[in-house]
Amino acid sequence: MTGLITPVRGLLGARARTYREHLDTVGPLPAVGAEQLVQLVAAAGLTGRGGAGFPSARKLAAVGSRRSPVVVANGAEGEPASSKDRALLIHTPHLVLDGLVLAARAVGCRTAYVYAPESVLDSSIRPALTQRRDRLTITPVPSADTFISGQETAVVAAVQGLRPVPTSTPPPIYVKGVKGRATLVHNVETLAQVALIARYGATWFRERGTDDDPGTRLLTLSGAVARPNVYEVAGGTTLGEAISAAGGALEPIQAVLVGGYHGGWVPWTAHAAQCPLTRTGLSAYEAHPGAGILVALPARRCGLKAAAGLATYLAGQNAGQCGPCRNGLPALAGHLQDLVQRRSPAHNHEEILRLVGTVDGRGACHHPTGTTRMIRTALRTFRNEVELHVAGACTELQGSRKGA
Ligand code: SF4
Repeated sequence: MTGLITPVRGLLGARARTYREHLDTVGPLPAVGAEQLVQLVAAAGLTGRGGAGFPSARKLAAVGSRRSPVVVANGAEGEPASSKDRALLIHTPHLVLDGLVLAARAVGCRTAYVYAPESVLDSSIRPALTQRRDRLTITPVPSADTFISGQETAVVAAVQGLRPVPTSTPPPIYVKGVKGRATLVHNVETLAQVALIARYGATWFRERGTDDDPGTRLLTLSGAVARPNVYEVAGGTTLGEAISAAGGALEPIQAVLVGGYHGGWVPWTAHAAQCPLTRTGLSAYEAHPGAGILVALPARRCGLKAAAGLATYLAGQNAGQCGPCRNGLPALAGHLQDLVQRRSPAHNHEEILRLVGTVDGRGACHHPTGTTRMIRTALRTFRNEVELHVAGACTELQGSRKGA
């Protein structure tokens, strides 16, 4: 050991290639009792970084009160626009494993899993596990490359060797999950934050961010920004500050998809740029930060076409178990594509509005509701484009004619 450890500044400051380097960077894993860990995480105000934003301490406490529980580090990241979990697992695997060990200790668990893409398990997690001597059995489980594979009940199914699709609850997985045992599924970024909070404390965590959104979070920025990448920002960072962190817009942009494919389209305006990336800050736009995903859409692109592409992808990702998802989403995507192609635009537009109302809030999981949110915000944000299409025109078409 190198003696006194200076607290690292956040997740990305904790990069380490080996376990020895990791310990030299962040210090040893402290012996934190179960109650103490729950209190620390609660005082820090840590919320889940997988998209739902649920208070992490409450999840820990809910599972900790049950017999022989199971803990899973969820790094499935089925969302195509996100790469922060992969980055974290590759650059700081030991921090995630520390968080998993702490969570397992806190809930009295002896069986833990790391659920992530096979390539990540192979290149990072399995080698990291060979360097450690944890008194805990940690089993790597390959995740499926599907959008819904990271949903909590799908994770529970995958860990049991079943098809990784959501199942209907109740009972919730904190009561009955893997092999009937109470199960805690934490996103890998959440666990990495737990490992830092256990070392440096809740006050340290709250030194960055705001009262509403303490600490830091990872963002994946892509689209028309100068430097698409994964960034760590303080809680409360505004949409405009996040775009600036990625070098700013590469060209004029018209909107940003915030929160990923289940998120919301936010028009790129002076007002929106000042909104903090929190549920409250983005509520006027019906958006939320989700798993920290931002995709900037250039002004020259047809927003309706971009949204139709996402809807088609999402419709193809349904697990075929529930009617609204099996029938409603493909019909919605079909009408959106037809509207983009201006086949029968007035009829398509009416059907899209009707189906959004019919499908929203239905199904055994969040997939239909997340998809309709993305479509509804697209119809609002790209209102002018919708009107153009109903009138038989399109921005991209007009742009290409001008350029011809
Ligand atoms: S709503 Fe869709 S994705 Fe969710 S469980 Fe039903 S069929 Fe599967």
